[in-house]
Amino acid sequence: MHLRFIQDVTRCGESDSLYTEPTMSFQVPVADRRRSQALQQRAERFFPGGVNSPVRAFRAVGGAPPFVASAQGAWITDADGNRYIDYFGSWGPMILGHAFPPVVEAIQRAAGNSASFGASTALEGDLAERVTACYPAIEKMRFVSSGTEATMSAIRLARAATGRKVVVKFEGCYHGHSDGLLVKAGSGVATLGIPGSAGVPEEIAGLTLALPYNDLAQVESAFAAHPGAIAAVILEPVVGNAGCIPPARGYLAGLRALTAREGALLIVDEVMTGFRVALGGAMELYSLDADLVTLGKIVGGGLPVGVFGGKRAFMDLLAPLGPVYQAGTLSGNPLAMAAGIATVGYLQEHAAEVYSRLEATAKAVAEGVAAEAAAAGVPLTLNRVGSMWTWFFASGSVRNYEGAARSDSAAFGRFHRAMLDAGVWLPPSQFEAMFLSTAHGEAEVSATIAAAAEAFKAVIAG
Ligand SMILES: *Cc1c(COP(=O)(O)O)cnc(C)c1O
Repeated sequence: MHLRFIQDVTRCGESDSLYTEPTMSFQVPVADRRRSQALQQRAERFFPGGVNSPVRAFRAVGGAPPFVASAQGAWITDADGNRYIDYFGSWGPMILGHAFPPVVEAIQRAAGNSASFGASTALEGDLAERVTACYPAIEKMRFVSSGTEATMSAIRLARAATGRKVVVKFEGCYHGHSDGLLVKAGSGVATLGIPGSAGVPEEIAGLTLALPYNDLAQVESAFAAHPGAIAAVILEPVVGNAGCIPPARGYLAGLRALTAREGALLIVDEVMTGFRVALGGAMELYSLDADLVTLGKIVGGGLPVGVFGGKRAFMDLLAPLGPVYQAGTLSGNPLAMAAGIATVGYLQEHAAEVYSRLEATAKAVAEGVAAEAAAAGVPLTLNRVGSMWTWFFASGSVRNYEGAARSDSAAFGRFHRAMLDAGVWLPPSQFEAMFLSTAHGEAEVSATIAAAAEAFKAVIAG
């Protein structure tokens, strides 16, 4: 099968228009991945599973993971020179496409001034001003280096603020890999089919209540069963880590009202959805307020940044003002701040154009592929919010983790392998969301739909 891919190159700074005329290039389907296989063998000598984060090992879908040499715009080039359309965007951050020139230049400029100081710079305030402008619930914040640190610290703050211990989370939501949040977590935990993690003491796991998503009555019952004990409710406002699951109508407002009534903090984890589903994240999209908010992924423009922030009264409990300790050698790192400022700044200045383009492109590819599944007779349920979505290999609606888990993961695996061989790189698990960038255009969409039409034949063939 020979697909013709046309690359839509994203440039800026040259004209008012971000999107220049597409340049033609031809994509030959993946030939072989010999060099990637050799690199994987070497990696397995050093890293458990050959990887530094478990889902990268492709265990759930089978096949050997390509090693990446470089990426530009919507396209990834592997170590053997094969090219792929990217639908995982480094798991979310690359909303402006790879090697976006303003981001590259910002990092280069910052690097010339030294990579780290361990002392404050103006860059931190510059990014913070942008963050508060987009997230009014974040009155004060602290920068960290990952989403894991952000949620972990938000939980500590919530416990200190309330003097309570129990945390409510939802099945299939992933909030990083800290001990207390790995209970019935999504993402790689769901992908590998394990209930939680070994090494987490039951005394710690026992302080986390995992409830089904999109079910307010269960949260109401939990508060009734644990009076005065629940410090916080933490959630993904649109689930991405069990695959994409939107909140049911009234669910988020219901959680806000319940937590306020019960004196518990509402922690909205926007590490994935922040700057993704809207400039102001799910909180803007659904008019939601929160006590604490966490950000990550896009806010660092591809470099390691996490944010936890929220109401001033809670944030001022942090050292050195208050008794809650939290620190980081590389927190607010100048390269990471520079990449974040360039990314968030671009999104702010071009918000209308960026988010309408993302919506149109995502709708075209997500619905186009779903239509091919229907034509091929493959049961498929599409959940989508803006430029994040999941094709569940299941019929009927998917409203929570239990629904997502009913998907035919083996069929997804066949689909994934066929797409990868056709030059389309999807996240390697049924329990992940797809993302695209402003660099994806009509050419990528039509090539992806054509590849999917073929891939569904492989799904049917079994
Ligand atoms: C990715 C993610 C995290 C963890 O962020 P890391 O930077 O990988 O530690 C936390 N919460 C959500 C919702 C995420 O998607």
